[in-house]
Amino acid sequence: MKLIEIKNCYKVYNNGVTAIADLNLSIEKGEFVFVIGASGSGKSTLIKMLYREEKPTNGNVYVGGINVAKLRNSKVYKLRRKIGNVFQDFKLLPKLTVYENVAFALESIGLHSKEIRPKVIKALESVGLKEKMRSFPNQLSGGEQQRVCIARAIVNDPKILICDEPTGNLDPDISKEIVLILDKINKESGTTIVMATHDKEIVNRMKKRVIHLENGVVVSDDKKGSYKVHESN
Ligand code: ADP
Repeated sequence: MKLIEIKNCYKVYNNGVTAIADLNLSIEKGEFVFVIGASGSGKSTLIKMLYREEKPTNGNVYVGGINVAKLRNSKVYKLRRKIGNVFQDFKLLPKLTVYENVAFALESIGLHSKEIRPKVIKALESVGLKEKMRSFPNQLSGGEQQRVCIARAIVNDPKILICDEPTGNLDPDISKEIVLILDKINKESGTTIVMATHDKEIVNRMKKRVIHLENGVVVSDDKKGSYKVHESN
C-alpha cells in the first residue's frame, strides 16, 4: 500500500463550491512532493484532507493505511500522530520558549519529561536552533520561527510532513534555507514531505515531483517537475 492514496476523491463545500473533483493520486513513502496551482485551485483543500481537517465528500483518502474519509472523529488522533504540520503563519505559542513550543506536542500526548528532552534537543539540532531554545518566538526572525515550527512538526518522528505554503511569509534567501532543511529531513529520516507552494524559484531549483492542480483536478504530475502556474492575481 502506498503511504498516501487518493481515489476518486471529491470535495464540495457547503456553499456548493467543488474544490476537488475526481482526484486520483498516490505518494510513496519517502517522496518529496510539491503541490502547485493558482490560488483557489484546491491545494489547501487537498492538504487539509490528508490530516482530516476537511472530510472528502466522496471517494477515499488513505494515509498510512487509514481511510481518512471513514475515520471516526474519536480516532482522528491516530491519524494526526502520523503527521507533522508546518503552516505559513507559524502558529507558535508566544508565551512559551522555543524549547517549550517544541515540547508541548509531546507533553500533550503524555510523554514523560525525561523522554521529551532528548527528542526536543534532537529536533532543534536538526533545524540548527538548539542554542536558541530559551528564546521566545518574538525574539526570533521569521526564518528562525519557521525552523522552530519544523522542529515542532518532526519532534514525534511523523511519517509525513505536510507543509502549506511554509515559505509564504519569508524572503527568498530564507525560503531557500527552509526548503533545504526540509530536504535534509526528507533524505536523513525518510519522512515523506508534501508541500503546497507558490514559490517558483524553489520548485524549479529542487527538481522534485510536482503535482499541478487546476480547478481541483491534477493537470500534470512530473517526476522532476517545474513551476508552470500562470498566476492571474
Ligand atoms: P488553494 O489552496 O489552491 O488556494 P483552496 O483549497 O483554498 O485552494 O480552495 C479551493 C476552492 O474551494 C476555492 O474556490 C475556495 O474558494 C473554496 N473553498 C476553500 N475553503 C472553503 C470553505 N471552507 N468553504 C467554502 N469554500 C471553500
